[in-house]
Amino acid sequence: MEIKGPKDYLKLGDWNVLCDVCGFKFKASELRKRWDGYMCCSKDWEERQPQDLIRLPRERQAPSWARPSPPPTYETIAPVDPNVPPVTTTPPPIDGYFAVVKPVDPNDLPPGPSYP
Ligand SMILES: [Zn+2]
Repeated sequence: MEIKGPKDYLKLGDWNVLCDVCGFKFKASELRKRWDGYMCCSKDWEERQPQDLIRLPRERQAPSWARPSPPPTYETIAPVDPNVPPVTTTPPPIDGYFAVVKPVDPNDLPPGPSYP
C-alpha cells in the first residue's frame, strides 16, 4: 500500500509536482518560476540579485600616454687586457652579439690558477 502525503489529494485542474530546489511535493499552482528558470516553492523563490543587471561603462585598457623605452646599452666583455677599457655601445652591433673590440691571443692571457 502506497503511503499518501499531504499533497496527495484531488484538486481539479491541478497536479502534483516536485520543487526544483528542495524536491518536496507541491501542487503545481503553488510553484512559481524563478529568475533562473527553476520552478520552486514559495520558500525557495527569490528575486534575482539586482547587481547582476548593472551595466558598467566600458573600461579603457590602453594608458592615456606612453613613450618608448630607451635603447639598451651593451658593454663588451671581449678585451681581457686590463689596459684596454671595455667599450660601451648603443645600439648593439649588427650581428646581434657583443662587439669584439680586439682579438685575444690565448698566449697573452695571464696565467690562471694551477691545479695538481
Ligand atoms: Zn522548494
